[in-house]
Amino acid sequence: MAEIRGKHQETESFVDEMTKLRMEVAIVDDLKNELQRLQKENDDLKDTCSVQDSALLELAEQLGRSKLEMEELRFDIDLSKENKWMSDDQVISCYQCEASFNLARRKHHCRSCGQIFCNDCSNKKRLLPSSSKPVRVCDECDMIFIKRLHGFGDFVGRTDTI
Ligand SMILES: [Zn+2]
Ligand SMILES: [Zn+2]
Repeated sequence: MAEIRGKHQETESFVDEMTKLRMEVAIVDDLKNELQRLQKENDDLKDTCSVQDSALLELAEQLGRSKLEMEELRFDIDLSKENKWMSDDQVISCYQCEASFNLARRKHHCRSCGQIFCNDCSNKKRLLPSSSKPVRVCDECDMIFIKRLHGFGDFVGRTDTI
């Protein structure tokens, strides 16, 4: 009788073991599901990342463009404000053609670069960012304006006489 009870207990503990194992299998299944979910999440995140990457690239491009525009603006400011305003008494001849100034050949400032020229070398007029009406510029500055205006497709009219 004791032997049978012993067997019975063995069977019970076997059943317990089985139940435990089943639970463990269920846990492993859960973990598998969790792993799959995480992998999917990871893939989704990767997708999001690549989308954000291209968004970043686009931003960088836009930034580059803004930088270029900034350079252009700085160029305007350089032309109009930061160039040295040459003082009259330092200059005895035209900055471009080097003809000496006298009563007949008067000094003229280029309002863009600030250098001093004879009338022939500075008889163009341009609308500078700092001015509300066209002002005298030298031939060299005029060329820069023409080149730049061609780039912008916005040609500001000029007069050849002062
Ligand atoms: Zn000159
Ligand atoms: Zn000039």
